[in-house]
Amino acid sequence: MEHRVISQKKPRLNLRIVLIAFVLFSAAATLAHTFWVMFQTQEQELIESALESNRTYATRIATAVEGVLSSDLDRLKYGSAVVSRNFHDRHLLAVEARRLLEQDNSFNSVLVSDATGTIVASAPERLQLNGQSLQSREPLERREPMISNAFHSISGNLVVFVSQPIFDTNGQYLGLVGGTLRLEQQNTLRVLMDLNRRENGAYVYLVDSQRRVLYHPDSQQIGRLIGRDRIVDAALSQANGSLEAVDRDGNEMLAGYAGIPSSHWGIVSQQPMAVVQGTLSVTALKVAKGIVPLGLLGLLIIWWSGSKISEPLSRLADSAKRLDAPESYERISAIPGDYLESWQLRRALLLSVSLLQEKIGRLNRQAQSDPLTGLANRRAMQDTLAPWQESKKTIAVISVDIDHFKQVNDTFGHDVGDETLKAVAELMKQNSRPTDLLCRVGGEEFVLLIPNSSISAAVDIAERLRLSIASTALEAVGHITVSLGVALWRSGSSMDDAFHRADQLLYRAKQQGRNQVVAEQESRPLELVS
Ligand code: GH3
Ligand code: MG
Ligand code: MG
Repeated sequence: MEHRVISQKKPRLNLRIVLIAFVLFSAAATLAHTFWVMFQTQEQELIESALESNRTYATRIATAVEGVLSSDLDRLKYGSAVVSRNFHDRHLLAVEARRLLEQDNSFNSVLVSDATGTIVASAPERLQLNGQSLQSREPLERREPMISNAFHSISGNLVVFVSQPIFDTNGQYLGLVGGTLRLEQQNTLRVLMDLNRRENGAYVYLVDSQRRVLYHPDSQQIGRLIGRDRIVDAALSQANGSLEAVDRDGNEMLAGYAGIPSSHWGIVSQQPMAVVQGTLSVTALKVAKGIVPLGLLGLLIIWWSGSKISEPLSRLADSAKRLDAPESYERISAIPGDYLESWQLRRALLLSVSLLQEKIGRLNRQAQSDPLTGLANRRAMQDTLAPWQESKKTIAVISVDIDHFKQVNDTFGHDVGDETLKAVAELMKQNSRPTDLLCRVGGEEFVLLIPNSSISAAVDIAERLRLSIASTALEAVGHITVSLGVALWRSGSSMDDAFHRADQLLYRAKQQGRNQVVAEQESRPLELVS
């Protein structure tokens, strides 16, 4: 028969590892993906809500600043009306200036100038502004209510100037009345902004149209000029909205902005992206902490079920390696076939085992028995003798040889000779017990092995056999006889020696005239018995 040898390399991974690795990988990938999506969504939400809250905030503060400025303008408008009636009355102007200053401490100073820009009245008086010229001629030229950008006042303070023109009843331009807000000092704007300080790294600042900082929670920043900055640009465009941008210090910011139309200033409310991301990391960490115990439990379940699922298959694979083992059938039967594949494999293996063992049994029997007589052959005899030598105390060896067998062949032919051999084997079976071992060791030579026997018991058996053969008339041949030699093996001695002695005794039987039994003495080997 042709054998096909499968020469593929044996894989090192087994089903359990592959299964568990696959499930673990899928679970981890799903988890990571879920986590990532959650993280992304959360981040997007946080960013959007930060942007929106900054936008709302900037808009709200802008409205409030607008309110403060417009009430400042209103107060000055009232003052302007008061002084326009008696503009030449310097005392009245001075009184009105002081009233405006003290009304609700909105301004740090108040002044009245004539149409040439010369200050004609001012409060507080200690500043001694009277007679000096206005620093900026713009309000004089524009002759309308105005809120200036920041500039350094005569006394060296950073201020903004809020002013109303003064006209007489004929519409003649007389000059202006204005108030200063000192940006580095407490004033209504600053109070408003300080009241609205924010948390979570968010802060609000106010810039004029020339990008000078009018208010900043970090007072060092007040007065500073800001260079190119997208957020400030957006605020000064007088729109309101929000954007993600990098500020002038290179920090990524989530900003809301709004304009203040009356002054062309801008409000920015912003929050570093890092703060939002920090919040997110904290959330992510919390989620991760919540997931870890669950993940470990999942891991255990995966491990356990992976082992459970693969167990029948690996046991079947293991059993398939030794189908010829005697206990294979029982072992494979005990493997659970809970799902189709394992059930089918188990059934296929059981079928293979039955077929294989049946075949092995047949081959064994063929290899162990003599085809003509059905007696054990030499090999089977050796196989049986090996364990006997371990467990038996004595074994009687009876060598049997047919007398003048050549003549049988010569006279009746080989086939009749074979039939004679079969008949002798049959008679030997009839004269022995199932525990004895009958072998055909040569052409017409037989051995009868009797375990745990004495010489005398073996001689009895040999004698009975001799008589039985001699007295049986065989078809075609008639009567034949046999000669027998009887020796005894004792535990610990040589088996070959016992066979050799039995053969010698048989030879002696032949010499002494055949059709007889010659045995060794119980304790004196090779002594004649009959
Ligand atoms: P002895 O009494 O001395 O034993 O005389 P014998 O003729 O039996 O002599 P031997 O034992 O030497 O004879 C063996 C003969 O047995 C030789 C051979 O023709 C015959 N023989 C051996 N094997 C077979 C067999 O399988 N079938 C048949 N028919 N004859 C066999
Ligand atoms: Mg012979
Ligand atoms: Mg012979």
